[in-house]
Amino acid sequence: MGPFPPERGVTTDPRVILAIVQELKKYKPKEIIVGDNSGSIHFDPLKIAKITGILDASDGCYSNIAREVLKVKVESKFIDELFISRIVKEADYIINVPKFKTHMLTTITGAIKNMFGIIPGGKKAQLHTLNRSTYEFAELLVDIYQIRIPDLNIMDAIIGMEGAGPTNGKTKIINKMISSDNAISLDSVMAVMMGLKPDTIELLQVAKDRNLGEIDASNISIDGELKVISGFKTPHNGLLQKIAKAVVPHVFNFNKVIPVIDHNKCKICKKCIEVCPVSAMNLKGKYPEADRKRCISCFCCDEHCPYGAIILPSWQQNIFNRLKGK
Ligand code: SF4
Ligand code: SF4
Repeated sequence: MGPFPPERGVTTDPRVILAIVQELKKYKPKEIIVGDNSGSIHFDPLKIAKITGILDASDGCYSNIAREVLKVKVESKFIDELFISRIVKEADYIINVPKFKTHMLTTITGAIKNMFGIIPGGKKAQLHTLNRSTYEFAELLVDIYQIRIPDLNIMDAIIGMEGAGPTNGKTKIINKMISSDNAISLDSVMAVMMGLKPDTIELLQVAKDRNLGEIDASNISIDGELKVISGFKTPHNGLLQKIAKAVVPHVFNFNKVIPVIDHNKCKICKKCIEVCPVSAMNLKGKYPEADRKRCISCFCCDEHCPYGAIILPSWQQNIFNRLKGK
């Protein structure tokens, strides 16, 4: 992620981090590390930690976990070896602290996807080039999750994000914390709260097929009441969108969502150009523009734009843009 202040609801609420750190300190562990890892080498990790509030909330325990990496073998059909954070790999106990959010590519971003953060900086964006569908990307995310399965997951659902997450959705007050030692069950509960069926989400389908956890909420032991959040907007909410997602790509391949720049918000900082893993985003005239042929719809540009200037169009708008030659 890029540098987003806590009120944007993009990154984990600093109050959650501080509460966890303060609780852990009571047990006097040898060392506590609050790890963060930006999505791009073009961002200063310390600056991001200050803006997100993680630095102060870490109470002296902050570390850029991408500063030291090691190569590990990975069971994956996409890649044999990966660089991951040494700190994460060598930690005795990992508490994964994701946020309750939607995601335009993977529908949800939660505990499983948060472990993508063990991949150093810009290497995350490059991994998008290894796969060509949401299902394949989900497979890769679960491959990475399996490198080091977290011991405990504590989800910040105080202020969640609905709609066009993970950065440009709307904040939603939920006022909950959700915790589990199983990330798959935790994400399934989050999906149900969003009004989604866990077995329709690729990430959860892959994890279930690998026997990594239960995704049927009726088989998950839950303390507390599990309720769908009224009016929660998911990335693919409408019936027409669902039909379009299922049918249109097979007919015209028109459904590929290509980001569009909002010229009123763009400050021409070029971060979107720097993070694009396939060099699809380039200046065209004064402003950046995505090349439709090259773009792989990974939305890394959207995740890193500090000014919310990237629009991910609806399927109707996307078809209109394509017809206009954009
Ligand atoms: S779209 Fe965002 S990231 Fe790209 S140049 Fe404009 S402000 Fe910067
Ligand atoms: S322009 Fe396309 S490929 Fe490049 S970062 Fe954005 S969504 Fe990904």
